Amino acid sequence: MIVAMGENASEAQIEKVIEKLTEMGFTVHRSTGAVQTVLGVIGATQGVDTRELEMLAGVSQVHRITSPYKLAGRGFRPEGTVVKLRGGVEIGGGSVVVMAGPCSIENREQIFTSAEQVAKAGARVLRGGKPRSSPYAFQGLGVEGLKMMREAADKHGLCVISEVMEISQIEPMLPYIDIFQVGARNMQNFNLLRELGKVDKPVLLKRGIAATYEELLLASEYVLSGGNYDVILCERGIRTFETYTRNTMDIAAIPILHKLSHMPVTADPSHGTGRRDKVTPMAFASVAAGADALLIEVHPNPDKAMSDGAQSLRPEQFSELMTQVRALAPVIGRTIA
Ligand code: PEP
Ligand code: MN
Repeated sequence: MIVAMGENASEAQIEKVIEKLTEMGFTVHRSTGAVQTVLGVIGATQGVDTRELEMLAGVSQVHRITSPYKLAGRGFRPEGTVVKLRGGVEIGGGSVVVMAGPCSIENREQIFTSAEQVAKAGARVLRGGKPRSSPYAFQGLGVEGLKMMREAADKHGLCVISEVMEISQIEPMLPYIDIFQVGARNMQNFNLLRELGKVDKPVLLKRGIAATYEELLLASEYVLSGGNYDVILCERGIRTFETYTRNTMDIAAIPILHKLSHMPVTADPSHGTGRRDKVTPMAFASVAAGADALLIEVHPNPDKAMSDGAQSLRPEQFSELMTQVRALAPVIGRTIA
């Protein structure tokens, strides 16, 4: 950590800051310049609230050099994390894994048809949930829906991902799912994340609608620190001033999260744009930017979907997307799983 003293800081102020840092257990290296004094702070500074130091008299700025997270950082596992699922599916390896399916499980026929269609096109994981942003919208079928989804997935050799919203759902979901999805609105539900740190199933953590990369990585740290290292990050669009799209898909998040952390990165262009006609181009961009997986909403009949119909691809659009990403992936040295 670097503490830059202001140009007008007095010797007494500088000494006071050094004293405080020493009291906190750090080693301080002082560099007295012609105009300004800079203090190099050595030690475990992760837990320090930098604002506390910034408030000391004479301090101009405080900068962290090391990241505030330990387990989420690339340095913890420089070679990268590969999350292994059933059927030899690996997220974070050389192949891009496609997870697809409806926003919500509506009935038996819908989820069985969806499973068949996405499997045929080449998806490896079936998605479906789910909770809604509005309490008045369709709320999903609960565990009954999950049982149907598991059956449909098994019939077509697919893995299952579904969203967990609260701690009490972890146990009942365990037998039916392969990946726990944590929704954008729950990214900072630290109690839930802490519990997911204790389970033996991968967790896909979606970025909050207004979360910075650092906040996402700190949230993942709650799962990792419980001993569950199978965490997959997910960019799903963030809130900006733009209203044309439902969210603004932050493609740069993909290479940035890869640089900062060792976890695989998934892209969700469905929630990232909210518009069916923009899902495919954003899926291409995500694969080109290095995404390890795609999460895509597909519905047998989006016009009749009970949730997120506008952003759900029609089955034939999804097949076409798959054909095209299969052609695109080799350009950046990858394949589609
Ligand atoms: C979803 O995947 O259907 C979903 C609700 O996503 P998010 O949490 O990103 O809004
Ligand atoms: Mn949805």
